[in-house]
Amino acid sequence: MTQRLRIAIQKKGRLADDSFAALKKCGLSFTIRGDGLLARVKNMPIDLLLVRDDDIPSFVANAVSDLGIVGENVLQEDILSAGGKMALSIERRLGFSKCRLCLASAEGGSINTPQDLQGTKIATTYPGILNNYLRENAITADCVEMKGAVELAPRIGIAPSICDLVSSGATLEANGLKAFETILESEAVLIKSAEVLSPEKQDIYDRLVSRLDGVIRSKDSKYIMLNAPRSQIENITKILPGSDAPTIIPLAGDDDLVAVQAVCTENVFWETLEALKASGARSILVLPIEKMMS
Ligand code: ATP
Ligand code: ZN
Repeated sequence: MTQRLRIAIQKKGRLADDSFAALKKCGLSFTIRGDGLLARVKNMPIDLLLVRDDDIPSFVANAVSDLGIVGENVLQEDILSAGGKMALSIERRLGFSKCRLCLASAEGGSINTPQDLQGTKIATTYPGILNNYLRENAITADCVEMKGAVELAPRIGIAPSICDLVSSGATLEANGLKAFETILESEAVLIKSAEVLSPEKQDIYDRLVSRLDGVIRSKDSKYIMLNAPRSQIENITKILPGSDAPTIIPLAGDDDLVAVQAVCTENVFWETLEALKASGARSILVLPIEKMMS
């Protein structure tokens, strides 16, 4: 029987949809049913283990799953509460589910800097990361562990400040709180069990990761095509974001104009196009890139 590589991903929540989308962009074909714990990938020997995000690091560390996709916030918390070590490694940062773990306190209150936390209580669902931060910054404060609804803690007198995840800040604001310090910038990461993969699984893993690299790189990448005076090529190349060697093609019947084509690995903004135009570029096209492989 062929061995199947197993990837643990969040079944439902803020990581789930982007994790599914990233795997689909890698060409994996699968359907998620309501109550299933395992989804079989039809066109590659891969199974998806659909679980709560909190279970992903320990499943991977125990080799119940070979790989996992999880937020760094959850991963770091689990590593710190396991005493600083788990039998897994971070293989790739995936660039989605971005959020910050912040310290926040009442707007207009007396706690406005990390130093003001000295001798106070802080409510959090991240005691491992918080205590580590307090230790590193020589702050003595009591961490009050909660399982959820941390943003309500100041109002009901549990603790004057909190350590919680923030994305837009709207939840904080709705509760009269403001963030005054970021203690972790988090995004989804691909983790891999420390257990050595069988040659068969290693092969599937290598193919998957090479595709994933293409997906990560093509995310902000664009293909730019334009016409420009030959004399401006050097200037124009400097303006193209994250592109090192554009293709230059002579235009039939015109000695002065050339066509320039380049892959830009960074965001292309309207300002970029305006700068290109000011340097003499014309007929500028920006095209999306669907797949990449080097
Ligand atoms: P589960 O039921 O799987 O335990 P959960 O309620 O713990 O889910 P979610 O709210 O779905 O978790 O968040 C999962 C992860 O998504 C977080 O741990 C964090 O890494 C990331 N995340 C949190 N908030 C946001 C956000 N606003 N935008 C994007 N990603 C976020
Ligand atoms: Zn969770």
